[in-house]
Amino acid sequence: MSSQKGHIGVTTENIFPIIKKFLYSDHEIFLRELVSNAVDASQKLKTMASVGEFKGELGDLSVRVKLDADTITISDRGIGMTAEEIEKYINQIAFSSANDFLDKYKTDANAIIGHFGLGFYSAFMVSKKVEIVTKSFRDDMPAMKWTCDGSPEYVMEETQRTERGTDIILYIDDDSKEFLEKTRIESMLKKYCRFLPLPIVFGKKSEWKDGKSVETDEDNIINDTNPLWTRKPVDLKPEDYKQFYQELYPFSDEPLFWIHLNVDYPFNLTGILYFPKIKSNLEFQRNKIQLYCNQVYVTDSVEGIVPEFMTLLHGVIDSPDIPLNVSRSYLQSDANVKKISNHITKKVADRLEEIFKNDRPQFEEKWDSLKLFIEYGMLSDEKFYEKAEKFVLLKNIDNKYFTLEEYKSLIKDNQTDKDDSLIYLYANDKVSQYSYIEAAKNKGYDVLLMDGQLDVHLLGKLEQKLEKSRFLRVDSDVIDKLIKKTDDKASTLSKEETDQLIERFKAAIPAMEKTDFIIGFECLGEFSNPITITQSEFMRRMKEIAELQGGAASFYGEMPISYNMIVNLDHPLIQKIRDDKDNSDDLLHQVIDLSLLSNNMLKGEALSNFVKRSIALI
Ligand code: ADP
Repeated sequence: MSSQKGHIGVTTENIFPIIKKFLYSDHEIFLRELVSNAVDASQKLKTMASVGEFKGELGDLSVRVKLDADTITISDRGIGMTAEEIEKYINQIAFSSANDFLDKYKTDANAIIGHFGLGFYSAFMVSKKVEIVTKSFRDDMPAMKWTCDGSPEYVMEETQRTERGTDIILYIDDDSKEFLEKTRIESMLKKYCRFLPLPIVFGKKSEWKDGKSVETDEDNIINDTNPLWTRKPVDLKPEDYKQFYQELYPFSDEPLFWIHLNVDYPFNLTGILYFPKIKSNLEFQRNKIQLYCNQVYVTDSVEGIVPEFMTLLHGVIDSPDIPLNVSRSYLQSDANVKKISNHITKKVADRLEEIFKNDRPQFEEKWDSLKLFIEYGMLSDEKFYEKAEKFVLLKNIDNKYFTLEEYKSLIKDNQTDKDDSLIYLYANDKVSQYSYIEAAKNKGYDVLLMDGQLDVHLLGKLEQKLEKSRFLRVDSDVIDKLIKKTDDKASTLSKEETDQLIERFKAAIPAMEKTDFIIGFECLGEFSNPITITQSEFMRRMKEIAELQGGAASFYGEMPISYNMIVNLDHPLIQKIRDDKDNSDDLLHQVIDLSLLSNNMLKGEALSNFVKRSIALI
């Protein structure tokens, strides 16, 4: 065959300026595309051999990447291409209309490349000229050389080559010289080709000799052709999983657990997901899951593919069934992706349940590091909630763990109020709520420790889900009223005296910014404190949620904080304040300040006044 000239079959005048112009942000993926084409061509040959269509020697099927002064060459010993195949697969890039294409995919390089099978053409993002030198595995076919200099014209001619396979030679553009640097290519290969199924060779290994690095004869294979997730779980030990985790995330804490995913129906998916230790704050370490397509690295941003809370997990997902090269919005609405996402959620929940059932001590031991993930899942994903209900744990002040069922039985008898509601008491700070916790314990109540970042949200969720149940912080009311077992007694004060007393108390409370007190009167017995300060559960939760969602800027953040100041009419000091109106102002100030002091609310001038008054009284 003599040399053939032709036009590449695109309907637009010139595809290359488009490729160059719009694919700029992802230039480096050209290497991924070309190396994976080379691997595909070699895998195809293996398949042909296994069905008897290729009878020759397979030999070494390594793919080689070679760097010269101005070129990068990607070589394989795969099936190669005949002239006809070049014509069909390389020359005829068909797509409907260039304008259409530009409109739709302007900003998304991956979308263009994957959608239109432009993998090979991504070479032109970095090259001024590309050559293909190829010889088909079919013995009688001549070797071919295809050259294209970035215009829509190409030259295709017969050439001399006896070895089966393909060389893709990129003549690197002047503005892409960075890709001629060894370290750059090596890091790109490590990123995209690290787990490809055939050896990828980049130059020779070097070693230190006489104080400098010298090349050896040994091929520098940059990948692991048999990564852990492609192997059978039965053949693997916990050490293997831990070691692989270290390979993926060097210098990380050991993972808590892992799941080896292996699905072949109704879609294909393999992978390993790890539960990392999540530090107890919201600096979630997202975007650590790496997505692969047949062992080719695609991305580490998996939003839309797995539910939001799953992005806290680490590890690898590999699936040829996830449409990888499309835009995010497409991904999110894809039915296949939804199925995959549901499946992963289910698997993760099943695995947690299994550990919980089979090894509860381990589960409890790791609970504190795991709980943020589980709570996040329960709050954001209904399906996950339903599963997690069985293994979510509540921890009490004495560091004992309970399932929801277990806890319910524990408190049922003693913590049901007069309206038949089950009252869950909790504290979120053992130290500052100490006296309230003690009071509750003395009553025989159990107190939960809810000090996690998502705990307020979770207890809101549990209140919706659990029948007739309420969560109250131990300091949200005086102990006798926390769990109301009988109706309130009618007040012994007349309306008139109530109003007067409220006035006196209000006048005696030191001024505090953005803080309100609602004064109330109770008969709590002479041995209870004269004044107790509480904050209603509702008020406090609103505040906490507002703080989580952006603090003072929000509506509830702007509202003054409102406390209840509960005055114990049975206490002798209060009695005295009522009886001796004219001479008890100091006493009134003193009991109020003491109550504020015990809640760490007496500050600045008010504190100094209190100290002076106390000294004078002594
Ligand atoms: P895709 O790989 O998505 O099909 P490409 O543009 O990357 O799209 O490649 C087009 C076709 O060219 C491939 O499907 C394959 O048939 C052929 N091809 C590309 N590279 C090689 C190669 N190294 N060896 C043999 N055939 C190849």
